[in-house]
Amino acid sequence: MPNVTLTIDGQKVTVPAGTTVLEAARSAGIFIPTLCHDPAIPGWGACRLCIVEIPGMRNLPASCVTTATGGMVVYTASEAVIEARRTIIDLLLANHPQDCLTCERNGDCRLQDYAFMYGVKQSSFQGERKNYPLDDSNPYIIRDQNKCILCGKCVRTCQAVPERSVIDFGYRGFNTKVVTAMDLPLGESDCVYCARCVAVCPVGALTYRPLAGKGRTWEMEKKTVTCTFCDNGCTFDLISKQGKVIGIMAKEPGPGRPLCLKGRLGLELLYVAEPMTPMLKKDGRFVPVSWAEALGLDGVVARMKEVEGK
Ligand code: SF4
Ligand code: SF4
Ligand code: SF4
Repeated sequence: MPNVTLTIDGQKVTVPAGTTVLEAARSAGIFIPTLCHDPAIPGWGACRLCIVEIPGMRNLPASCVTTATGGMVVYTASEAVIEARRTIIDLLLANHPQDCLTCERNGDCRLQDYAFMYGVKQSSFQGERKNYPLDDSNPYIIRDQNKCILCGKCVRTCQAVPERSVIDFGYRGFNTKVVTAMDLPLGESDCVYCARCVAVCPVGALTYRPLAGKGRTWEMEKKTVTCTFCDNGCTFDLISKQGKVIGIMAKEPGPGRPLCLKGRLGLELLYVAEPMTPMLKKDGRFVPVSWAEALGLDGVVARMKEVEGK
């Protein structure tokens, strides 16, 4: 594939043709903030935070969906760009709870990071605020729709990575939110609790329940492990605090494959000091089950008992 050379913030950058301006900047170590971008799924240009200034182009284009061309000149942090990013953050905060003090994502939240980076202390807009009840309907994921910034990463990940399409955008305008089919609570949907959506959510809208309340993000360490429960080779993050493994998280999707609940629960049993009781859905309700059942080993155990009895 031929290369193109463009100039980003005065620096010559050469990338393969077809590369986006965002990828070109990142390949040269130039920072551009994003909320909805995920390298594992096609660009969407929804959050607009990655806007840049390109002389000759109308408005400020989103760099994640703008293709780099030869001779292009890009400014990633001009006055106009910074001002526009401040306005975007200001608008997001206009309808956001801002309870960072008690939020599970405090210290690992892109909205918090960018509000700090661009000096937006609070929103200058007043108006109606979302007031959804917490979706606490299942044992693995807590959904707080009031903190959702509608970046769509969970929706696109659920569609593209585990090929489940359990969630999508529903309703219109101010009432737009991420919904399951018929807007049922997650616990009553076809969600398989792979928790990929939790791993990609840039804010505190989705929380992996087994880790909720177990510590602040800066107290935790991550180590990648490969699941050995089948030959797919999915990778997970072991989450440790003070040298003790306290949970297993789905990893942000790479050029990925599905992560199943069996793999995550299996690793939990292997690594976590105090694993949670596994829960499976039976007749539409979550019930605690044995580890053998959760890991699909019931048949094996029954057969072993049968053989032992012979
Ligand atoms: S999601 Fe981020 S900005 Fe919102 S309350 Fe939590 S830490 Fe604060
Ligand atoms: S846990 Fe997995 S299946 Fe369920 S909504 Fe999230 S990505 Fe989709
Ligand atoms: S739940 Fe998280 S990932 Fe999904 S749209 Fe809301 S902010 Fe984005």
